[in-house]
Amino acid sequence: ESLDQGLQKSNQSIFSKLSKAVVGKSKVDDEILDELEEILITSDVGVDTTIKIIQRIEERVARDKYLNTEELDKILREEIIALLEENNSQDFLDFDLPEDKKPYVIMVVGVNGVGKTTTIGKLANLFKSNGKSVILGAADTFRAAAVDQLILWGERVGVPVVSHGMNTDPASVAFDTVKQGKEQGADVIIIDTAGRLHTKVNLMNELSKIKRVMQKFIPDAPHEIMLVLDGSTGQNAFIQAKEFTKATEVTSLAITKLDGTAKGGVVIGISDQFKIPVKYIGVGEKMSDLQIFNRKEFVDSLFS
Ligand code: GDP
Repeated sequence: ESLDQGLQKSNQSIFSKLSKAVVGKSKVDDEILDELEEILITSDVGVDTTIKIIQRIEERVARDKYLNTEELDKILREEIIALLEENNSQDFLDFDLPEDKKPYVIMVVGVNGVGKTTTIGKLANLFKSNGKSVILGAADTFRAAAVDQLILWGERVGVPVVSHGMNTDPASVAFDTVKQGKEQGADVIIIDTAGRLHTKVNLMNELSKIKRVMQKFIPDAPHEIMLVLDGSTGQNAFIQAKEFTKATEVTSLAITKLDGTAKGGVVIGISDQFKIPVKYIGVGEKMSDLQIFNRKEFVDSLFS
């Protein structure tokens, strides 16, 4: 399913709400800006980022004296794209695998249920179908289901999975995965980690232990720490981003479940508030339902 279809399904895209708000009006006034503010907040853009966007539009209104409502849509898009640009959300035309980092090590974090395992499976498929060799490490050993699911994804995609089973030491799984990946000359190593947030100290300790063992083989690993967030959970996604960025240095975001929701606004708010680039978006449950984030395409989908 495409992002467009998903966002259109509920007919609540930012654009459709905005079109309703400006009916019968030609000039952008305070009332319209108030409505726009509410639209952005109810689309999960988040209060701080919404205020920032509204202020920028107000500045343009003040500067140009008169802003036609027909132009509001275009200006809003421009401001959102500019925000995403400021937060380094590049248009990844292709996944980026730096040549001097081989194997490229990605550590994946996120709470249970957000689509972490699925995203790892999809990512493995993306790399593999582009001719890269991939190895996965099942270091989310807290839940039996997580280990089993990752093994299943490995079979489905056709990539090896290192696993020691449930309740084993995650760092030891990471150790073996990175060791094997390095020995086999893999292009990409993806390590799944446990998503417990119950105590921040535990999470921090566990993640730093996993990092330390990786660095025995690859001193600058992990090259990427990807946080997976469920785009349909609105404020929860913000809270999780806050907790994980406190516990570890998150360098990229994958935002899932953007197919079944009109709340893609969460992508704008989170990348703005945390200054972390969005790299991938999940648009369905299938292996191919992962898109490399593209600012313009994404913003267009919010408005279509
Ligand atoms: P984990 O606990 O974070 O590893 O989550 P899973 O990968 O097991 O995913 C939880 C559920 O969300 C599963 O039913 C997945 O099929 C589903 N899921 C994952 N990503 C997406 C997505 O992008 N879109 C939709 N619609 N479902 C997804």
